[in-house]
Amino acid sequence: MAQITYNSTGTTVSIGPGARLGDVAWQLDTYHGRALAHGLCPYVGVGGHTAFGGWGLASRNWGLLIDQLLSAVLVLADGSVVHVSARQSPDLFWAIRGAASSFGIVTQYTFQTHQAPATVVRYEFFFENPTLSSAKFAELSRSYQTWGLTAPKEVGIVANVIEGGKVVRIGGYYMGPLADFKPIAASLFHVTGLPNSTYLEERAWLVALAEVGEGPLQTIGIPDGHDTFFSKSLVVPTSSPLTTAAFSALAEHFANTPIPGITSWFIQFELWGGGDSLITSIPSTATAYPHRAHLWTIQFYVRSKRAWTAQDTAFITGMVSAMTDSMPDALFAAYANYLDPELTGWQNKYYAGNYPKLAALQKKFDPKGVFLKDQNIGAPNL
Ligand SMILES: Cc1cc2nc3c(=O)[nH]c(=O)nc-3n(C[C@H](O)[C@H](O)[C@H](O)COP(=O)(O)OP(=O)(O)OC[C@H]3O[C@@H](n4cnc5c(N)ncnc54)[C@H](O)[C@@H]3O)c2cc1C
Repeated sequence: MAQITYNSTGTTVSIGPGARLGDVAWQLDTYHGRALAHGLCPYVGVGGHTAFGGWGLASRNWGLLIDQLLSAVLVLADGSVVHVSARQSPDLFWAIRGAASSFGIVTQYTFQTHQAPATVVRYEFFFENPTLSSAKFAELSRSYQTWGLTAPKEVGIVANVIEGGKVVRIGGYYMGPLADFKPIAASLFHVTGLPNSTYLEERAWLVALAEVGEGPLQTIGIPDGHDTFFSKSLVVPTSSPLTTAAFSALAEHFANTPIPGITSWFIQFELWGGGDSLITSIPSTATAYPHRAHLWTIQFYVRSKRAWTAQDTAFITGMVSAMTDSMPDALFAAYANYLDPELTGWQNKYYAGNYPKLAALQKKFDPKGVFLKDQNIGAPNL
């Protein structure tokens, strides 16, 4: 179930759920000059990635992977096989764009592709904070956030807090020529100040994807690495951008909390909204995935090379609560693709106002609860 079949008449591609993102990107561009917006890591599978959204650096320009989905084939709880699209079983088509695993096993997804750019601008800007000053971190982060509110959709951008918080790396790719990106970068530096070091190059599309994915795109026959990790997410509404106090509290947490034995951690501030982002131009009720009026998805990620401990979990949970406790009135949400088995109230955090409709559809299409497990629709809270 990893076949990738391109249809040149409709410029669509049908993909088995077992195909991986890197192989999809490589085949689409190499043989057809086409592309999709999807996640960064080449080893991520199309099956789960599409099931819950599917974000990548081209998503502000082209949408989430579910926004490019035209139809799917799935096996329902009663064993029947259905084709779903805007015309065929539209309720199921709506539901699988954000909560697919609750409704069936998808055996094929068909997407609308885009013309692959010949080149994009790859950039990484490194801002150093060797003393772990929370004030400096908060000022830089707030400036980046203010700039992000109006960033053009061709900018794919994340800020990664790395090296124990001593470096913030703001980077990604720009889907246009270098000459157009230079003033955009200048407008960022106008608020953040100049970075300590810079990487800025025009790169072929597949080269850029391999760079941001930190490895070759072709995965077939090459085993993936393994990681012992815990990740959490925080989805931030555009109506309540993060405050200086929230950024400071986060920095104080990671600067002052001992984490013996943990190999590394990072926090990734992904700009999903802002400006004319296509993600946020889609109504919250148009797909089961609801977080359309949102600016950031923040991913908190801690990995360890020894046996996992409660202290490790407390460290990552503390990062999130440092921010949320500073903004008790903000309606923070979560992203189901950054699966968090310890998330309380996941129904509302993953699905917000779309949950009641999803719960009714789950009862209709899976009355015996075949898919009722973990954090699938209808399962109990923690
Ligand atoms: C290294 C790494 C990088 C990542 N980067 C990104 C990123 O840039 N952007 C982003 O949005 N996400 C990213 N993710 C999250 C990723 O999208 C999810 O983990 C995704 O669910 C993985 O899907 P999978 O098919 O590879 O995994 P699986 O473990 O096979 O599937 C995960 C879940 O998806 C559901 N599912 C899988 N296949 C099907 C199917 N055929 N039908 C119905 N339901 C199905 C099931 O609930 C399953 O438990 C990343 C994850 C990792 C580990």
